Order: sequence, then structure tokens, then C-alpha cells
Amino acid sequence: MTIHERRPDPRRERAAAGRSINLALANRGIHALEQAGLMDRVRPALIPMAGRMLHDESGRRQLIPYGNKPHEVIYSVSRGGLNALLMDAAEATGRVSIRFGETCRDVDFARRRVRIRAGDREEIHEFPYEALIGTDGSASAVRDAIVRRTRGEADEQPLGHGYKELSIPAAPGGGFRMEKHALHIWPRGEYMLIALPNADGSFTATLFLPNAGEESFEALRRPGDVRGLFERRFSDAIPLLPDLVEEFFGNPTGHLETVRCHPWFFEDHAVVLGDAAHAIVPFHGQGMNAAYEDCDALDDLLEDERRDWGEIFAEFESLRRPNADAIAAMALENYVEMRSTVREPGFQMKKEISFRLEERHPRRFIPRYSMVMFHRIPYAEAKRLGAVQDGILEELTGNARKAEDVDLALADRLIAERMPEDVLGGEH
Ligand SMILES: Cc1cc2nc3c(=O)[nH]c(=O)nc-3n(C[C@H](O)[C@H](O)[C@H](O)COP(=O)(O)OP(=O)(O)OC[C@H]3O[C@@H](n4cnc5c(N)ncnc54)[C@H](O)[C@@H]3O)c2cc1C
Repeated sequence: MTIHERRPDPRRERAAAGRSINLALANRGIHALEQAGLMDRVRPALIPMAGRMLHDESGRRQLIPYGNKPHEVIYSVSRGGLNALLMDAAEATGRVSIRFGETCRDVDFARRRVRIRAGDREEIHEFPYEALIGTDGSASAVRDAIVRRTRGEADEQPLGHGYKELSIPAAPGGGFRMEKHALHIWPRGEYMLIALPNADGSFTATLFLPNAGEESFEALRRPGDVRGLFERRFSDAIPLLPDLVEEFFGNPTGHLETVRCHPWFFEDHAVVLGDAAHAIVPFHGQGMNAAYEDCDALDDLLEDERRDWGEIFAEFESLRRPNADAIAAMALENYVEMRSTVREPGFQMKKEISFRLEERHPRRFIPRYSMVMFHRIPYAEAKRLGAVQDGILEELTGNARKAEDVDLALADRLIAERMPEDVLGGEH
């Protein structure tokens, strides 16, 4: 198998700035890495994050656990480190060759060739393929070629908010300046700052802001504008960000969008997966996890040697597209949760009640966040069951002021009526 990768080999050259330096790995990604036999090598690089550490405007901190059990955590991992490990492992099989600095420009389906440009040179080289798997990210050239050839559709929905990465250095001696085992959030209603820990004691912070408007990237033109916003809204973060202004103006502003397309494949020629098929906003921490889950699903389908590529690609899309649509929607919803609702007492009470209900009905009532992050229940099913749970929680909390007020007998009845007996199916 040959991989054509646009960028230079990141193991030799410094990676370009701008894409998140660390990201959250959860159960779906872990499962796929286990299937690939790589988890033993990935595990030492992981930093568990047990919950969201909320920072309010007066600097008070509050930890809201993600899950209900000690193992229900997500993990911060270095993007570059994980990519390098995967590339090393792929090359070590002796069956994969990675050609760096090669950009896919187009696909000539009639001649079964992929058109590649090497480096900055103008000329195009053609490579024959048996099957082409487009994993070329949210601006995929393979997706464009498939959609054009099939007269399909690609829809790119900008979020209207962007992001900027900033760094929180380690304390002298390499210690962490804040709780290490948490994902830190400064929720501010319309926008937020977050920070994930790195193995060297530093944190990578990301500021998410509207692109335009009164408090937006567009409005932050001068150093004083940036300092002013942080003094007003993120004052406890200022001592943690010694290079705030330099980084704000030196680092690129990232763009966020949701990409949906159809079809994901063309006959027995080509398929797209990962962000190329379904780029989502990063607020559920699931883009990479979903891409790994795609790989695992495609790998399972490849086991059946009687099928041709066309049948495999068609089944892959029918299995995965409903799930990709569901996580895209849940990721958008999670932005509102992280930047705003997480602060509300009603949200925290519902979370507490959900955990109690999970304890009473461990295979029947699993909070939606847990279904997405700690289980492999298909995303579409998690979304559907999450809506049923919301209805139950609404009914239960109508008059409740605290979790203890909830009528547990009513809760048991509603769950028995509305939730399937075993949402985990064959998972465990
Ligand atoms: C700020 C931010 C935070 C995120 N946090 C998380 C998180 O916490 N957890 C999580 O699960 N996900 C997260 N994600 C999402 C995650 O980064 C993506 O979903 C994931 O990287 C998708 O993997 P991919 O391989 O499909 O695409 P990419 O990672 O985009 O990889 C595409 C590759 O193709 C190459 N390429 C592009 N075009 C071409 C071309 N024409 N020819 C050849 N090569 C090409 C690129 O150089 C790149 O190496 C985050 C994303 C962002 C932006």
C-alpha cells in the first residue's frame, strides 16, 4: 500500500503550527488502536482527564466528573506523537510505503489513476490504483473527485467561530500549573477557553471565539484588545499565559466547519473516510475517534474476501454515514454545553441524577455523554437514546430543586417504559 501525504515527514521536520497539539482520545479510538495491536505502545503517552475543571470569572474552580466510575476518563495525547507512532507501525509492517510531500490533485477514474503533485513542482505524476482510500482531511481532493464524478453533494457549514492555540508552560522543575488530570474550561457563554495537559507539564490552551462581532477574532486587532478581553473575562488565566499577545498574533486562527457529503464512494474505485467524509466541530473530542472507528469498520468489512471493493465501500457508507451525521450534530450541541450550559445548576443536577439512574439501571440508562465517550454504542443510537433520556429527565426534574428531590419510583417506571432493556447489547 502506498500513502501519498502532502506534508513533509513530521518525524524529521518540525510540524506546522495551527492544528491542535494535543487531543482527547476516548474509548472508540482506544478500541480501534487495540484492534490494530498498538494500544500497549500508546498507553504510556496518555494523560487521563477525569472531568471538566470549570474556571468561573472570579477564578473559582469546580471539577465536574465526566463519568460515574473511576475508569470513565478520557485521555490527552500528543497529536504529533500519536501520528509518528502510527507511521512507524505502518512502515514496520513492510507493507506500507509513505511518500511525503505528495499532494493529491485529482482522480482520473476513467484511467484508474490518481494525479499527484510532488512538492512545489508544477508537473503532475499519475499513479495507478486498485482501490483508492481518501483520508485527506476536511478539504479532501478525493471527496471532490467522487462528488464531481457521481454528481453527488458536499455541504460545508462554517461554524462562524474560530480558534487560536496558546501555550501554558510547565512550572519551574516541570510541574503542572493546574490540576493535571482534567480538561480545563473557562466557559463564558458565547465563547470559551479550554486547556489540555501535555506530558512535559505544559498545557495547550485553545480560545474559541466568534469570527465577527463585539467580542470576536475580528475585534481583537491590537495587543490592548487581547489583554483587555483576558483581563475582563479570563483574568485567572493571564498569569498562566506569559506569551499571550505574541502567540495570539503569531499563531494562525483556525477555521471550524461541519462537512457532510454523499456519496462517500465511487463504484469499486474510491472511498473517503475520517474528516474527508465527515469533518465535525471539535467540541465532543470525537473527530479522530470517529476516524479511527471508520478504519476499524472498514477493516472488518475487508475480512470477507468474497466481496469486491464496490460492495465493501457501499456497505461502509451505509453503516457509517448515519453515525457520522449523529456525531456531527452532537458535537455542535456540545459547544453550547461546554461554553454555557455546563455552568447552570440545572445542568449539574441533571448530570447527578443521570449518574444515580445509571447506578440503578447500569445496562439501561447510560448518560449520553458516557455512551459517546466510554462505550461504542453507535453514535446514531446514542443520539436517539439521549433524546429519550432528556424527556425522562425533564419529567423528573420539573419540580426538583436538587437531585435528592427526584421521585426514584417514577424514574424506574419511566425507564422501564421508554428505554430498551440493554443498551450495551454485545459490547461487554
Ligand atoms: C482544534 C481541534 C481540536 C480537536 N480535538 C480533537 C479531540 O480532542 N479529539 C478528537 O477525537 N478529535 C479532535 N479533533 C478532530 C481531529 O483532529 C480530526 O477529526 C482528525 O485529525 C481527522 O483525521 P483524518 O486523518 O481524517 O484527517 P487529518 O488529520 O486532517 O489528516 C489528513 C492528512 O491528509 C493530508 N492531506 C490533506 N490534503 C491532502 C492531499 N490533497 N493530498 C495528500 N495529502 C493530503 C494532510 O496533510 C494530513 O496529514 C480536533 C480538531 C481540531 C481542529
